[in-house]
Amino acid sequence: SLTFDIDAVRENFPILGRRVYDQPLVYLDNAATSQKPREVVDCIQTYYLQTNANVHRGVYHLSEEATSAYEASRDKVQRFLNAKSRKEIIFVRGTTEAINLVAHCYAKPLLSPGDEILISTMEHHSNIVPWQIICNQTGATLKVIPINDAGEIEQDAFTTMLNPRCRLLAITQVSNALGTINPVRQMIKQAHQQSIPVLIDGAQAVPHLQVDLQALDADFYAFSGHKVYGPTGIGILYGKQELLEKMKPYQGGGDMISRVTFAHTDYNELPYRFEAGTPNIAGSIGLGSALDYINAIGLDQIARHEQALLVYATEQLSSIDGLRLIGTAKHKAGILSFVMAEAHAHDVSTILDQSGIAIRAGHHCTMPLMAHLGIAATARASLALYNNRADIDALLAGLHEVKRIFK
Ligand code: PMP
Repeated sequence: SLTFDIDAVRENFPILGRRVYDQPLVYLDNAATSQKPREVVDCIQTYYLQTNANVHRGVYHLSEEATSAYEASRDKVQRFLNAKSRKEIIFVRGTTEAINLVAHCYAKPLLSPGDEILISTMEHHSNIVPWQIICNQTGATLKVIPINDAGEIEQDAFTTMLNPRCRLLAITQVSNALGTINPVRQMIKQAHQQSIPVLIDGAQAVPHLQVDLQALDADFYAFSGHKVYGPTGIGILYGKQELLEKMKPYQGGGDMISRVTFAHTDYNELPYRFEAGTPNIAGSIGLGSALDYINAIGLDQIARHEQALLVYATEQLSSIDGLRLIGTAKHKAGILSFVMAEAHAHDVSTILDQSGIAIRAGHHCTMPLMAHLGIAATARASLALYNNRADIDALLAGLHEVKRIFK
């Protein structure tokens, strides 16, 4: 049974108390971004009002306080993901920047014509386009692992696609469009048997599942702060130290150097080598606070709650005539993508909005997946720790209203 009190949790998120079109807000677009608890916003405010100074620079008290808070956040991320070393935790803008960094600094220098980068059919554009860009620049080929009708990676096809020309496997742990939880631990193991390094897009995994990077043995791992109850504009690239050590910097500037002359620059040690310029200090500290918030509740508890709600929501949505769930994998996170016979996804979303219900409609930055499925768009409800049965009931009532209008 649950050890956390949903009503008390909801109190921590003031936005959940607001009204939209004079109706209580029902927020079910958590895969796009999550809401922020008071603790995180207070932490950012306190930083700006009481501690603000640049990091790693001033030899005065305030700057040392800001630097300690910034670096303490890095330690929190390291512990949260169970990474081996704090040097492996790079602050970036988000998942997108993390993947681009790996594409440009790790993959591109390795690639020549005939080499392959392996992704899956269900990837987000941010785990497709960066690879396409460097494939175009190097003559390498992007290969795509197929999925089955339930929205699961075809494991037999995956096994046959691992080959000596494959230089990197880049896959998502949880699909933002289907909810599928991929068996990444097993897939990493298989890739490693052929010495193929693996990048995991953890954007949709970190809010919902405990991630243990040492057990997973991923070579690179990316996630975004804003999807784990933290601020926007901050995210994490994890990379194994031995790989990061060999990579050239992403950007040049302050903080990433140890010594500069006009003729030559010596780069700073990890992780600073990949953090050029004044970083998002408040964002990093806010992310640390969000991880504290999650830890206080417990990811196992959050997962349990969301799984129970997913089962309930799946039952309820399945009871609606003409509604088809897209993504019926055996292992799923709290994401419900669907289409309705009567109405286009955008119309569904617009009608729900009039009742204060926020869901997403569209391609969810997975246009190749939509093309594979032969649909233009889905409506998507996605869950977070503060969602409850009342939210699902409101969604259901809204969908019945859609059917009434489009009858
Ligand atoms: N990958 C997945 C699976 C995502 O869901 C998202 C965000 N929708 C991203 C990558 C990109 O994250 P961001 O926009 O925060 O960089």
